[in-house]
Amino acid sequence: MATIGSAQSTVVDQRNRGLHDLRISVTDRCQLRCRYCMPEEVFGKDYVFLPKSQILSFEQITLVARASVNLGVKKIRLTGGEPLMRRDIDQLIAQLYSIEDLDEIALTTNGLLLPKYAKKLKAAGLDRVTVSLDAMDDEIFSEMNGGKAKVSHVLKGIIAAKEAGLYVKINTVLKQGVNDGQVLALAHQARDFGVPLRFIEYMDVGNCNGWEASDVVDTKQVLAQLETIASLEPVNPAHIGEVAKRYRFTDTQTEIGFITSISEPFCGDCNRARLSADGQIYTCLFSSVGYDLKPIIQRQGKTDDELVSFLTAQFSSIWQQRDDRYSEIRFNENVEKQPKVEMSYIGG
Ligand code: SAM
Ligand code: SF4
Ligand code: SF4
Repeated sequence: MATIGSAQSTVVDQRNRGLHDLRISVTDRCQLRCRYCMPEEVFGKDYVFLPKSQILSFEQITLVARASVNLGVKKIRLTGGEPLMRRDIDQLIAQLYSIEDLDEIALTTNGLLLPKYAKKLKAAGLDRVTVSLDAMDDEIFSEMNGGKAKVSHVLKGIIAAKEAGLYVKINTVLKQGVNDGQVLALAHQARDFGVPLRFIEYMDVGNCNGWEASDVVDTKQVLAQLETIASLEPVNPAHIGEVAKRYRFTDTQTEIGFITSISEPFCGDCNRARLSADGQIYTCLFSSVGYDLKPIIQRQGKTDDELVSFLTAQFSSIWQQRDDRYSEIRFNENVEKQPKVEMSYIGG
C-alpha cells in the first residue's frame, strides 16, 4: 500500500505491549439487535444514537489511522455497529489503502449488505471480511440476533464476498443453552464453503446483555463435538498477539479457531486500540472511558501532515499510559465494577 508516507516508530504500554491493530467503529447503528450486543429492550426506538454532527468524516478517520500507523499499527479492522450501514464505506477503504506501511484492511460485518457491496469493497482495497453467523437454524439464529435476519441472508453475503475475491472468516458467538447445539451444523457449512470458523466465548461487554459466567460454552466440549466430524490438529500461531487458538480438520484443512477471552484471557499480548465513530480512543474493550481526539482533529488552520503529527504524539502518550488487562482480572472480587463502554459503540 503506498502514497501517503509515514515515519514508523514503535511505542509500548505499561506492560510492554506494542500497538499493532486499530479497530475503527464507523457507526454505532445496526439493523440487527443481537441479544448479546444490542438487546432490543435497551436499543429500542427511543435509543439515542450518535448524531451525524459528532461522527468523524472519512478524512478525519484517515488522519487518525495515519497517526496509528506511525506508531506501529499494521492492520486496521472496520467495525461498528454494522460498518456496511455507513454510506460509501468503500471510499474510506480506498483512503486507508493509500497509507504506506499498512499491511491489511479487514472488516467485521453481519453480512447482510455484502451482496450489494462486496465487489466495491474489494475494488477499494479491502483484504478480508469476518462475517458473524451464530446458527444454521433460523429459529435459533433469531433468538441470537433479535429476529431480524435469516440464515440464508448471511449465507448469500458470504458467497458474495468469496465471489468478489475477499478472504472470508465466520465468527460465531456461542451461548450456553441457546446455540451450543449448532456447532456441528456451522462446522459443516464452514467446511462446505472452505472458510475458517471461529467460536467466540460470549463476553460481558457493555452493561446490558445480562451476561453470566454460566452462559459461556466450554471449549473442550465444542472440540469434542467437532472431532466427531473429523480429527483436528493444532495450528501454530501466525504472529504474536493472535487471539484465536487454531485447529485444522485433517481431512479438509478447514480451520477452526477459539477466542477464549473468558476462560483463557490473552491480555498479555493485547496490541489493539479502538477508535469510536465519534473520535474517542479506547485502549480496552472493557474500558469505561475513552480519550477524545476531536479537539486535535478539529484544529483549524493546520495541514493534514501537522494534524497527523499532533495525533501521533497524543496517541503515543495514550498508549504509553495504558495498563489494561480486564479479562485477566474480571473475576477478582476487589475489581471495582464500573460501567463499560457498549460493544456496538466501540466495535468488536
Ligand atoms: N455488526 C458487525 C458484526 O456483527 O459482525 C460488527 C460489529 S460486532 C459488535 C463485532 C463482533 O462482536 C461480532 O462478531 C459479534 O458477534 C461480536 N460480539 C458482540 N457482542 C459480543 C459479546 N457479548 N460477546 C462476544 N462477542 C460479541
Ligand atoms: Fe449488530 Fe453486530 Fe451487534 Fe449484532 S453483533 S447487534 S450485528 S453490531
Ligand atoms: Fe485487550 Fe482489554 Fe481484551 Fe485484555 S480485556 S485482551 S486488554 S481488550
